Amino acid sequence: MTTTVQETPVKTYSPEELEELKRNNEALALQERRTRPDVVRAWPQYLTIMNTFKCDLECPMCFKQLDDVFNMSLPDMEWTIFEKVAHEVFPHLRVINLSVSGEPLISRNVFKELEMMRAYRVKTDVTTNGMPLARRGLLEALLPVCHSLTVSFDAATKQTFEYIRKGAHWETVVKNLKLFNEMRQKLPPEERPTFRMNHIYQHANAKEPVLLVELAHELGIDYLSIEHVYVHRDYQETTSMLNHRRLANEMIERAKERAEQLGLKGKFPPLYDLSDGVPDKTYEPPSADWLHAETKKKNPTKLYKNAAPPPDGPVTVALREKIPTNEAFVSMREKGWFIPRAFDYGVPQLGDSLIPDSQVKFNHCAYPWREAFVSWDGMVSPCCSPALFDAGYMGDLRVNRFSEIWNGTVYQRLRKSIREGRTYKFCRHCYIVNPEDPESYSLT
Ligand code: SF4
Repeated sequence: MTTTVQETPVKTYSPEELEELKRNNEALALQERRTRPDVVRAWPQYLTIMNTFKCDLECPMCFKQLDDVFNMSLPDMEWTIFEKVAHEVFPHLRVINLSVSGEPLISRNVFKELEMMRAYRVKTDVTTNGMPLARRGLLEALLPVCHSLTVSFDAATKQTFEYIRKGAHWETVVKNLKLFNEMRQKLPPEERPTFRMNHIYQHANAKEPVLLVELAHELGIDYLSIEHVYVHRDYQETTSMLNHRRLANEMIERAKERAEQLGLKGKFPPLYDLSDGVPDKTYEPPSADWLHAETKKKNPTKLYKNAAPPPDGPVTVALREKIPTNEAFVSMREKGWFIPRAFDYGVPQLGDSLIPDSQVKFNHCAYPWREAFVSWDGMVSPCCSPALFDAGYMGDLRVNRFSEIWNGTVYQRLRKSIREGRTYKFCRHCYIVNPEDPESYSLT
């Protein structure tokens, strides 16, 4: 379906004019970071744009393999949406982020998007699986606007890599990364993008961290970040190192030591707490035959290719049904409506936060003043917290200009709630307000 997007007048700027606009915006943003007004004069200083939700791989630990709604049946962002936000906001900022949870470099519009960044002197952070770097002309188009490139790289051997990064080819990715590094090294240091590697540590690659550190060093990586795999469903526990905590701790310590020897900067996962005394189960590495067979299997995502569109969220339904206030909205739970607990104190679309005086709590969140997230469908959100559901929809770029959304009533109410310590409950599930909230992201 093609949507109608309100036209944004296009101005042409000289490099000097662009530099001045960006500098002015930084100065304004600095002032407003202190005062935190409801209506801002500064544009965001960072914009995350989900240019696609799709990915060319089918990694088994990815939530998209398990979700029958937010999966790869969702389309790329329409060019008209990208173009609209670019013409309006790009003159004022320096860096955007093209990555959210898809593979940004397979977007059908990626060349036009990179060209638009070049025209507005904007750079981008990109997280990629490394495969699309081989697209003809892509590295040449990307490098001049690349602020940082992070490759998601989950193994140090071909067989494990091709099992975890299902659909990727080890030789291709390694060759692409070498080429990227060679090409970036030819740029002057001030224009050279940072080169990072993200690694998900899990059962299949349990014994590979030291090898990975050595490979990252050889590829010219500036910064390596290793995280434990996130267990989305109970049955996935065996894909993690939860039953092999001592082995995991030993491997992480050895990898840290090797990184220090090689002078490779990095972040390593915290060591497991072993104080409960529960012994490790015997670690049996996956056999070569098993890895090979799994690599060939199709994942459920394929089945979702023709899935129905996501159902409307509670806020969208409330707006459609003309529910007038937050009090009325919350009371709809008694009539059987699905109202997540995260909405107990209302949503900014329907009014000010209902948080009582006794629960006022200062919070440092700077997101609604500093940056914004634009989804593939043009919805603008303040951050990527899943606890927001559709309360995160500050406005729709298919209907309004970015400036109308950025200073619209919904954004204003959200900013006010944060400044006054009356954050809506969905913010109270957030790591910024409540780092250890057990209710986080609960659907009940
Ligand atoms: S959910 Fe967290 S990051 Fe998002 S606006 Fe609320 S406090 Fe800020």
